[in-house]
Amino acid sequence: MRELVDAAAPAAVPAPLAADDPGPVPGRPAGLAVGLDIGGTKTLAALLSPAGDVLAQARVPSTPGADGVVAGAVRAVRDVVARAGDAAAALGPVASVGVGVPGIVDPDAGSVRHAVNLGLGEEPVALAERLADALGAGVVVENDLTVAAVGAAHLTPAAGGRPVDLAYLALGTGLAAGLVLDGRVRRGAAGAAGEIGHVPVDPQGPYCPCGQRGCLELYASGSAVAALWPTPDGRPAPVALFAAAAAGDPDAAAARGRYAAAVAAAVRVLVLSVDVRHVVLGGGVAQLGRPLLDAVRRALDEQAATSPFLRSLGLAERVRLAPDHVPVAAVGAAVLGRRGRDGGARGAAPAVAPAPAHLPEPVDLQEESPGWK
Ligand SMILES: [Zn+2]
Repeated sequence: MRELVDAAAPAAVPAPLAADDPGPVPGRPAGLAVGLDIGGTKTLAALLSPAGDVLAQARVPSTPGADGVVAGAVRAVRDVVARAGDAAAALGPVASVGVGVPGIVDPDAGSVRHAVNLGLGEEPVALAERLADALGAGVVVENDLTVAAVGAAHLTPAAGGRPVDLAYLALGTGLAAGLVLDGRVRRGAAGAAGEIGHVPVDPQGPYCPCGQRGCLELYASGSAVAALWPTPDGRPAPVALFAAAAAGDPDAAAARGRYAAAVAAAVRVLVLSVDVRHVVLGGGVAQLGRPLLDAVRRALDEQAATSPFLRSLGLAERVRLAPDHVPVAAVGAAVLGRRGRDGGARGAAPAVAPAPAHLPEPVDLQEESPGWK
């Protein structure tokens, strides 16, 4: 029915979210914005000043199940505010909370379901409503990759007056990207935009849990590194592989090359489908830092060597690492929470005024960029 309603009444279609952050929406009180990145093992929190600066960060262990997720989120909010101390107290109460979660998120309802790592099943959990009740602030809930992309956009230096345009490619247990295109979040018609991990790259390849064969995720995710270079001592596979390759082990060098070529293929998929200006590498594997970036850029250059077409796209120059000194996804969640879902944050939101009739046009970020590599 929703499609019918939207089609019949275009004015009711929500305006797209501006992913960049021009600051508090006019007419809404400036205040502190908290962002949470809820993962299977930990919840990261970031506290943003009205100017968009990160005032404090916190990290609390995640607890599975709906009650555990809600309690952990509340604890993370209180923790990060406490850490900011007087700096936060002088700026007033927390006005908005943005939350990034894995699983199937309904941003309109502020709910999440099918988040296996969080112990959430078929039944939607009304996360925004429950957190708004507990915290007395407006709450927005979004997909974890979307908030990561928004965080990367917030931290991206302005590029000559053009809106931010990037994909955040998460190299974790799985492989997927969040998209901010021309300054706006792209979720997709079914929320599947950026799910490039399940683009099949080898029709004869191994079976993927998604039911297809030879999915890109089987070659380019963090789990793929563990399959490529098993570590009996519990050391993270990417660290062990890249260390062995750097030490001159020819098998490791070959495996590193295969992995980098697969990540490079993911970069190609993103650029050739939506032509993003930047592809930001994030997720666990990206903690390798410069050696990963160099290997992926090398692979992209090799793949472009025989193709003037690919060479003309400058793929290697588009790839960069996510900043490693701030929790990018938590920052993005805070930015989205402050903007509010379509301009008005959800839930019992006494500190947040109703949505403005028209969102401001996206503008470029003016913030200084901390720590891009
Ligand atoms: Zn698959």
